[in-house]
Amino acid sequence: MSTEELVKEIGKLRKEKKAVILAHNYQRPEVQDIADYVGDSIELARRAMDEKEAKILVVAAVDFMAENAFLLNPTKKILIPSLYAHCPMARMLSLDDIRRYRKKYLRIPLVLYVNTFAEAKASCEVCCTSANAVKIVERVEGDTIIFGPDCNLAEYVQEKTKKKIIPIPEHGFCPTHSVFDIESIRLLKEQYPDAPVLVHPECSREVRHSANFVGSTSQIIRYAQEAKAKRYIIGTEEGILHRLRKDNPNKEFILASVLGICPNMKMNTLENIYKSLRDEVYPVTVPKGIATRARRALERMVELS
Ligand code: SF4
Repeated sequence: MSTEELVKEIGKLRKEKKAVILAHNYQRPEVQDIADYVGDSIELARRAMDEKEAKILVVAAVDFMAENAFLLNPTKKILIPSLYAHCPMARMLSLDDIRRYRKKYLRIPLVLYVNTFAEAKASCEVCCTSANAVKIVERVEGDTIIFGPDCNLAEYVQEKTKKKIIPIPEHGFCPTHSVFDIESIRLLKEQYPDAPVLVHPECSREVRHSANFVGSTSQIIRYAQEAKAKRYIIGTEEGILHRLRKDNPNKEFILASVLGICPNMKMNTLENIYKSLRDEVYPVTVPKGIATRARRALERMVELS
Protein backbone atom coordinates (compact mmCIF):
# COMPACT_ATOMS: atom_id res chain seq x y z
CA MET A 1 0.00 0.00 0.00
CA SER A 2 1.22 3.52 -0.70
CA THR A 3 1.66 6.00 2.16
CA GLU A 4 -1.54 7.79 1.11
CA GLU A 5 -3.49 4.52 1.13
CA LEU A 6 -2.09 3.56 4.51
CA VAL A 7 -3.03 6.94 5.99
CA LYS A 8 -6.54 6.57 4.55
CA GLU A 9 -6.99 3.02 5.86
CA ILE A 10 -5.67 3.97 9.30
CA GLY A 11 -8.17 6.84 9.36
CA LYS A 12 -11.04 4.50 8.43
CA LEU A 13 -10.11 1.83 10.98
CA ARG A 14 -9.56 4.41 13.71
CA LYS A 15 -13.12 5.69 13.20
CA GLU A 16 -14.76 2.27 12.88
CA LYS A 17 -13.05 0.88 15.97
CA LYS A 18 -13.21 4.03 18.10
CA ALA A 19 -9.43 3.99 18.38
CA VAL A 20 -7.05 6.75 19.42
CA ILE A 21 -3.42 6.81 18.27
CA LEU A 22 -0.84 8.06 20.75
CA ALA A 23 2.65 8.86 19.43
CA HIS A 24 5.70 9.68 21.51
CA ASN A 25 7.74 12.77 20.59
CA TYR A 26 10.49 10.43 19.34
CA GLN A 27 8.36 8.73 16.67
CA ARG A 28 8.97 8.98 12.93
CA PRO A 29 7.48 12.16 11.38
CA GLU A 30 4.79 10.27 9.42
CA VAL A 31 3.69 8.49 12.61
CA GLN A 32 3.51 11.77 14.55
CA ASP A 33 1.46 13.25 11.70
CA ILE A 34 -1.31 10.63 11.86
CA ALA A 35 -1.47 10.53 15.68
CA ASP A 36 -4.32 11.98 17.71
CA TYR A 37 -1.85 13.00 20.40
CA VAL A 38 1.91 13.51 20.33
CA GLY A 39 3.74 13.92 23.63
CA ASP A 40 5.81 12.25 26.30
CA SER A 41 4.82 8.98 27.90
CA ILE A 42 2.77 10.18 30.86
CA GLU A 43 1.31 13.15 28.98
CA LEU A 44 -0.02 10.69 26.35
CA ALA A 45 -1.45 8.26 28.89
CA ARG A 46 -3.16 11.13 30.73
CA ARG A 47 -4.60 12.73 27.63
CA ALA A 48 -6.04 9.39 26.59
CA MET A 49 -8.02 9.39 29.87
CA ASP A 50 -10.13 12.23 28.44
CA GLU A 51 -11.10 10.08 25.45
CA LYS A 52 -14.17 8.64 27.16
CA GLU A 53 -15.59 7.13 23.95
CA ALA A 54 -12.35 5.45 22.90
CA LYS A 55 -12.26 1.65 23.01
CA ILE A 56 -8.70 1.15 21.73
CA LEU A 57 -5.46 3.03 22.30
CA VAL A 58 -2.67 2.35 19.82
CA VAL A 59 0.55 3.34 21.54
CA ALA A 60 3.27 4.21 19.02
CA ALA A 61 6.10 4.21 21.54
CA VAL A 62 8.01 1.54 23.51
CA ASP A 63 6.88 -1.27 25.81
CA PHE A 64 6.85 0.49 29.20
CA MET A 65 4.90 3.40 27.70
CA ALA A 66 2.19 1.01 26.52
CA GLU A 67 2.07 -0.30 30.09
CA ASN A 68 1.74 3.27 31.38
CA ALA A 69 -1.22 3.76 29.02
CA PHE A 70 -2.79 0.58 30.41
CA LEU A 71 -2.24 1.65 34.02
CA LEU A 72 -4.07 4.94 33.48
CA ASN A 73 -6.68 3.55 31.05
CA PRO A 74 -7.46 0.05 32.34
CA THR A 75 -10.86 -0.24 30.63
CA LYS A 76 -9.48 0.42 27.16
CA LYS A 77 -7.73 -2.08 24.92
CA ILE A 78 -4.06 -1.10 24.64
CA LEU A 79 -2.16 -2.08 21.50
CA ILE A 80 1.51 -1.69 20.65
CA PRO A 81 2.22 -1.96 16.89
CA SER A 82 5.64 -3.62 17.26
CA LEU A 83 6.73 -6.33 19.66
CA TYR A 84 10.31 -5.16 19.15
CA ALA A 85 9.80 -1.67 20.52
CA HIS A 86 11.70 -2.28 23.76
CA CYS A 87 13.36 0.27 26.01
CA PRO A 88 16.83 -0.98 26.97
CA MET A 89 17.01 1.39 29.94
CA ALA A 90 13.78 0.06 31.50
CA ARG A 91 15.30 -3.44 31.18
CA MET A 92 18.31 -2.39 33.24
CA LEU A 93 16.29 -2.58 36.47
CA SER A 94 14.58 -5.90 37.14
CA LEU A 95 12.36 -6.83 40.07
CA ASP A 96 15.16 -9.04 41.42
CA ASP A 97 17.54 -6.05 41.34
CA ILE A 98 14.99 -3.96 43.23
CA ARG A 99 14.59 -6.64 45.90
CA ARG A 100 18.36 -6.80 46.31
CA TYR A 101 18.70 -3.01 46.64
CA ARG A 102 15.73 -2.89 49.03
CA LYS A 103 17.55 -5.35 51.28
CA LYS A 104 20.77 -3.37 51.05
CA TYR A 105 19.11 0.02 51.70
CA LEU A 106 16.49 -0.95 54.27
CA ARG A 107 13.69 1.60 54.90
CA ILE A 108 15.05 4.09 52.35
CA PRO A 109 12.32 5.30 49.96
CA LEU A 110 12.56 4.26 46.32
CA VAL A 111 11.67 6.79 43.61
CA LEU A 112 11.44 5.35 40.10
CA TYR A 113 11.48 7.15 36.80
CA VAL A 114 8.37 6.33 34.74
CA ASN A 115 10.76 4.68 32.25
CA THR A 116 10.39 1.37 34.11
CA PHE A 117 8.12 -1.64 33.85
CA ALA A 118 4.91 -1.87 35.85
CA GLU A 119 6.31 -4.56 38.16
CA ALA A 120 9.16 -2.21 39.11
CA LYS A 121 6.74 0.69 39.63
CA ALA A 122 4.62 -1.57 41.81
CA SER A 123 7.50 -1.93 44.24
CA CYS A 124 8.44 1.74 44.65
CA GLU A 125 7.08 4.50 46.89
CA VAL A 126 6.48 6.94 44.06
CA CYS A 127 7.24 7.48 40.37
CA CYS A 128 8.61 10.60 38.72
CA THR A 129 9.13 11.97 35.22
CA SER A 130 12.24 13.79 34.02
CA ALA A 131 10.21 17.01 34.37
CA ASN A 132 9.21 16.56 38.02
CA ALA A 133 12.02 14.32 39.40
CA VAL A 134 13.59 17.06 41.55
CA LYS A 135 10.24 18.14 43.00
CA ILE A 136 9.22 14.56 43.81
CA VAL A 137 12.51 13.77 45.52
CA GLU A 138 12.22 16.97 47.57
CA ARG A 139 8.72 16.04 48.68
CA VAL A 140 9.29 12.40 49.57
CA GLU A 141 10.01 11.89 53.25
CA GLY A 142 13.63 11.08 54.10
CA ASP A 143 17.09 12.53 53.62
CA THR A 144 18.29 9.65 51.48
CA ILE A 145 16.49 8.37 48.38
CA ILE A 146 17.14 5.35 46.17
CA PHE A 147 16.57 6.42 42.57
CA GLY A 148 16.51 4.47 39.29
CA PRO A 149 17.07 3.39 36.65
CA ASP A 150 18.88 6.27 34.93
CA CYS A 151 22.11 7.28 36.68
CA ASN A 152 22.33 10.53 34.67
CA LEU A 153 18.88 11.64 35.78
CA ALA A 154 19.82 10.55 39.32
CA GLU A 155 22.96 12.67 39.14
CA TYR A 156 20.99 15.63 37.73
CA VAL A 157 18.59 15.37 40.69
CA GLN A 158 21.56 15.11 43.06
CA GLU A 159 22.88 18.41 41.70
CA LYS A 160 19.58 20.09 42.61
CA THR A 161 18.87 18.64 46.05
CA LYS A 162 20.60 18.43 49.43
CA LYS A 163 19.24 14.90 49.92
CA LYS A 164 21.53 11.98 49.23
CA ILE A 165 20.60 10.15 46.03
CA ILE A 166 21.64 6.52 45.58
CA PRO A 167 21.35 5.48 41.92
CA ILE A 168 20.12 1.96 41.21
CA PRO A 169 21.49 0.21 39.25
CA GLU A 170 24.82 2.06 39.64
CA HIS A 171 25.20 2.55 35.89
CA GLY A 172 21.71 2.50 34.34
CA PHE A 173 21.56 4.68 31.23
CA CYS A 174 19.71 5.48 28.04
CA PRO A 175 21.86 4.30 25.10
CA THR A 176 20.39 7.00 22.86
CA HIS A 177 21.08 9.96 25.16
CA SER A 178 24.52 8.64 26.02
CA VAL A 179 25.76 9.28 22.45
CA PHE A 180 25.58 13.06 22.86
CA ASP A 181 29.11 14.20 23.54
CA ILE A 182 30.77 17.38 24.65
CA GLU A 183 33.11 17.64 21.65
CA SER A 184 30.29 17.68 19.08
CA ILE A 185 28.46 20.29 21.14
CA ARG A 186 31.60 22.42 21.40
CA LEU A 187 32.01 22.34 17.60
CA LEU A 188 28.35 23.20 17.03
CA LYS A 189 28.57 26.08 19.51
CA GLU A 190 31.56 27.45 17.60
CA GLN A 191 29.63 27.17 14.36
CA TYR A 192 26.36 28.59 15.76
CA PRO A 193 27.33 30.87 18.68
CA ASP A 194 23.83 32.39 18.77
CA ALA A 195 22.12 28.99 19.32
CA PRO A 196 21.13 27.94 22.87
CA VAL A 197 21.87 24.29 23.67
CA LEU A 198 18.81 22.41 25.02
CA VAL A 199 19.41 18.90 26.37
CA HIS A 200 17.58 16.14 28.19
CA PRO A 201 18.67 15.19 31.75
CA GLU A 202 19.39 11.64 30.52
CA CYS A 203 22.51 13.10 28.86
CA SER A 204 25.90 12.87 30.58
CA ARG A 205 27.06 15.42 33.18
CA GLU A 206 29.48 17.11 30.75
CA VAL A 207 26.75 17.52 28.15
CA ARG A 208 24.27 18.83 30.72
CA HIS A 209 26.81 21.28 32.05
CA SER A 210 27.53 22.61 28.56
CA ALA A 211 23.83 23.32 27.95
CA ASN A 212 21.81 26.51 28.35
CA PHE A 213 18.77 24.50 29.37
CA VAL A 214 18.21 20.98 30.73
CA GLY A 215 14.67 19.63 30.60
CA SER A 216 12.23 16.90 29.61
CA THR A 217 10.97 16.72 26.02
CA SER A 218 7.87 18.77 26.94
CA GLN A 219 10.04 21.37 28.70
CA ILE A 220 12.39 21.59 25.68
CA ILE A 221 9.37 22.07 23.40
CA ARG A 222 8.05 24.85 25.66
CA TYR A 223 11.46 26.51 25.97
CA ALA A 224 11.89 26.61 22.17
CA GLN A 225 8.41 28.10 21.75
CA GLU A 226 8.97 30.85 24.28
CA ALA A 227 12.62 31.78 23.65
CA LYS A 228 13.56 34.48 21.18
CA ALA A 229 16.57 32.78 19.52
CA LYS A 230 16.22 31.82 15.87
CA ARG A 231 18.35 28.65 16.12
CA TYR A 232 18.75 25.84 18.73
CA ILE A 233 21.10 22.91 19.28
CA ILE A 234 19.08 19.94 20.55
CA GLY A 235 20.42 17.13 22.75
CA THR A 236 17.62 14.58 22.77
CA GLU A 237 16.24 11.95 20.38
CA GLU A 238 15.95 13.23 16.81
CA GLY A 239 12.18 12.59 16.49
CA ILE A 240 11.56 15.72 18.55
CA LEU A 241 12.94 17.87 15.71
CA HIS A 242 9.81 17.16 13.65
CA ARG A 243 7.59 18.54 16.41
CA LEU A 244 9.89 21.51 17.05
CA ARG A 245 9.99 22.44 13.37
CA LYS A 246 6.23 22.08 13.00
CA ASP A 247 5.55 24.26 16.05
CA ASN A 248 8.22 26.84 15.13
CA PRO A 249 8.42 27.12 11.33
CA ASN A 250 10.62 30.24 11.53
CA LYS A 251 13.23 28.71 13.82
CA GLU A 252 16.06 26.32 13.04
CA PHE A 253 16.82 23.15 15.06
CA ILE A 254 20.09 21.26 14.85
CA LEU A 255 20.55 17.80 16.40
CA ALA A 256 23.63 17.77 18.65
CA SER A 257 24.66 14.33 17.34
CA VAL A 258 23.62 12.49 14.18
CA LEU A 259 23.68 9.31 16.29
CA GLY A 260 20.94 10.53 18.63
CA ILE A 261 18.32 8.11 17.29
CA CYS A 262 16.45 5.53 19.37
CA PRO A 263 16.04 2.45 17.12
CA ASN A 264 13.39 1.07 19.46
CA MET A 265 11.15 4.09 19.07
CA LYS A 266 11.54 3.81 15.29
CA MET A 267 10.10 0.26 15.28
CA ASN A 268 6.65 1.79 14.84
CA THR A 269 5.73 2.48 11.23
CA LEU A 270 2.57 3.34 9.30
CA GLU A 271 2.46 -0.30 8.11
CA ASN A 272 2.48 -1.86 11.55
CA ILE A 273 0.10 0.76 12.96
CA TYR A 274 -2.30 -0.17 10.17
CA LYS A 275 -1.92 -3.90 10.99
CA SER A 276 -2.22 -3.17 14.68
CA LEU A 277 -5.59 -1.50 14.12
CA ARG A 278 -6.78 -4.07 11.58
CA ASP A 279 -5.87 -7.19 13.58
CA GLU A 280 -5.95 -5.60 17.07
CA VAL A 281 -2.35 -6.61 17.80
CA TYR A 282 -0.37 -6.57 20.05
CA PRO A 283 -2.42 -6.24 23.23
CA VAL A 284 -0.64 -4.99 26.36
CA THR A 285 -1.99 -5.70 29.83
CA VAL A 286 -0.62 -5.70 33.36
CA PRO A 287 -1.74 -8.29 35.98
CA LYS A 288 -4.29 -6.82 38.39
CA GLY A 289 -2.25 -6.87 41.61
CA ILE A 290 0.78 -5.30 39.96
CA ALA A 291 -1.38 -2.76 38.13
CA THR A 292 -3.06 -1.61 41.35
CA ARG A 293 0.25 -0.98 43.11
CA ALA A 294 1.93 0.55 40.06
CA ARG A 295 -1.04 2.89 39.54
CA ARG A 296 -0.77 3.94 43.18
CA ALA A 297 2.89 4.94 42.59
CA LEU A 298 1.79 7.06 39.61
CA GLU A 299 -1.08 8.62 41.60
CA ARG A 300 1.33 9.47 44.39
CA MET A 301 3.49 11.25 41.81
CA VAL A 302 0.52 13.37 40.77
CA GLU A 303 -0.32 14.14 44.44
CA LEU A 304 3.26 15.15 45.22
CA SER A 305 3.78 17.23 42.11
S1 SF4 B 1 15.24 7.07 24.06
FE1 SF4 B 1 16.27 5.95 25.72
S2 SF4 B 1 14.80 5.88 27.41
FE2 SF4 B 1 13.68 6.44 25.54
S3 SF4 B 1 12.92 4.49 24.74
FE3 SF4 B 1 14.87 4.90 23.70
S4 SF4 B 1 16.36 3.83 24.98
FE4 SF4 B 1 14.51 4.00 26.23
